[in-house]
Amino acid sequence: MAVETIEFQAEAKQLLQLMIHSIYSNRDVFLRELVSNASDALDKLRLETYRDKDLQADVTDLHVEIEADPEHRTLTVRDNGIGMSRDEVVSLIGTIAKSGTAELLSTLRAAADAQESGAAAELIGKFGIGFYSSFMVGDSVTLVTRRAGAGSGVRWESAGEGTYTIEDVADAPQGTAVTVALKPADADDAMPDYTDPSTIRRIVERYSDFITWPIRTTPPGAEEPVTLNRMKALWARPRSEVTDEEYAEFYRHVSHDWREPLETIRLQAEGAFEYQALLFLPSHAPMDLFLRERRRGVQLYVRRVFIMDDCEALVPEYLRFVKGVVDAADLSLNVSREIVAQDRQIQLIRKRLVRKVLSTIKDMRSANPERYATFWAEMGRAVKEGLLEDPDNRDQILEICSFPSTHDDAEPTTLAAYKERMPEGQEQIYYMTGESRTAIENSPHMEALRAKGHEVLLLTDPIDEVWVDSVPEFDGTPMTSIAKGQAVTEEEVADAGRFTGLLSWMGEVLADEVREVRLTSRLTTSPACLVGDSGDMTPTLEKMYRAMGQEMPRIKRILELNPEHPLVVALRTAHEQRPDDDAAADTARLLHDMALLAEGGDLTDPARFVGLLADRLQHSL
Ligand code: ADP
Repeated sequence: MAVETIEFQAEAKQLLQLMIHSIYSNRDVFLRELVSNASDALDKLRLETYRDKDLQADVTDLHVEIEADPEHRTLTVRDNGIGMSRDEVVSLIGTIAKSGTAELLSTLRAAADAQESGAAAELIGKFGIGFYSSFMVGDSVTLVTRRAGAGSGVRWESAGEGTYTIEDVADAPQGTAVTVALKPADADDAMPDYTDPSTIRRIVERYSDFITWPIRTTPPGAEEPVTLNRMKALWARPRSEVTDEEYAEFYRHVSHDWREPLETIRLQAEGAFEYQALLFLPSHAPMDLFLRERRRGVQLYVRRVFIMDDCEALVPEYLRFVKGVVDAADLSLNVSREIVAQDRQIQLIRKRLVRKVLSTIKDMRSANPERYATFWAEMGRAVKEGLLEDPDNRDQILEICSFPSTHDDAEPTTLAAYKERMPEGQEQIYYMTGESRTAIENSPHMEALRAKGHEVLLLTDPIDEVWVDSVPEFDGTPMTSIAKGQAVTEEEVADAGRFTGLLSWMGEVLADEVREVRLTSRLTTSPACLVGDSGDMTPTLEKMYRAMGQEMPRIKRILELNPEHPLVVALRTAHEQRPDDDAAADTARLLHDMALLAEGGDLTDPARFVGLLADRLQHSL
């Protein structure tokens, strides 16, 4: 087939330019990225030969080779791994930043505008555009690859200017070779000479030492290649020997995130079920944390042999941000995802892993509150899904949660701290869900609690709407929504009997709107509010479902009246004196609509409301 020239997607072109020009800080990492890809390709090949006995692949000497050509100023990273088919080259290499390109672009632009090259650099790795970092050091990049078992190969080339060429080649060796035509070395511009053997050694030792495949290079004048890395899996080395830098580099390798991990976790079990785990909590939520096609970040190894990426059997959905490796000793190398999911050993490992992650977060909260705060701000929304997903660990999850509260405008509180502040006589943890802090704080439901000086948790994450109903208590103290049920209406309302007529009449007038009209003591300044029964869906949740396109019957709630309020008292009198007066019925409707507006709800008939209000205003002038 002839040479084909293909354009990158529109955003990808800009993205590439921005990336090349905004990251000057540390170009060395391009080599780490290429070596990391090569190592993955070797893992994949080894795995495929276990799975597919008929694969015609050469696995005799799997390795990575770095070849420098000072004369032509090129650097080649070669592997004899799985390689790529033509289609794979187009979809994997021809597409920069598989997901969220437009989003990345705008974030990168903002970072570039703010001259924050560090921030821009940090963003790159999150999107899996590792390969493209070679354009930071090269004017053009050539990739020649042949998929293991395939008869011919593919040659891809680009100068990073918006197009690439692709052509079939007959004689490519198995695996992939990426050749970078290097820009001139320039000490001022932090562009070292990447053909210099000592530079190559320094970078490999620093970033890729733990890679379990040999990374070789042949220094000028030498006959034999030398191996640059120690090839020892980090998780198999004694803890005391591994430095923080080494952990950080390994984290970058497994997570494709260029930043430091927030926390490193090691786990080890000996005996019948032997395994080791090296896990990380990232310092930033991955971009795809809330995307449907998101991946989980724990890889499964069996006795140092890579088995699978994204092993969902090892981590529950709500801990999907955890990255790292589990190495199990007693699994077959030839396991499928389905078998792994049902394996008893894997289930036990998962259980321990979850407990360890949760306890690590708990310890982090007491030992390093700032770090915990960062963690929670980034990952809390995902963790809270566990309150529904993982009932067995609900108490442990609740212990590490924190929530915004009326106690402090800025700092969220833990439930334990809330409990410590509870005054004598308060027997419940109060909360309210809603769309925003302001909406909740201004809602009529808050009045009585404020009057009593009770703290209220302000739950404004959409996920909060979903878990609260399945969490009845924390550490023996009931959790109670102030917008539901009879939260604070225990006290007898004085001369309640005098309102009986008003309540049943209003119930009829508002029959389409509400299920019941009753008195409350939860209000101090507002005339009325709407509440749900404890099992009812909240209005915010109802709205969320509608926003997702789901048909929802309107859920009727209960209208509660404040018997102390002059408007309510006057309405009672009006009704007693003129039971059939339409104006009184209109006032009842106004009262309902006002309660709905006060909590940030949407009126079913805004025109009617405005008409009535205009009428009343006119009469008051
Ligand atoms: P990622 O962060 O996903 O590695 P890259 O842009 O570096 O992003 O690579 C994109 C994809 O291209 C990889 O996920 C892999 O599937 C494929 N790829 C890159 N380099 C190689 C290689 N040396 N051998 C085989 N496949 C490769």
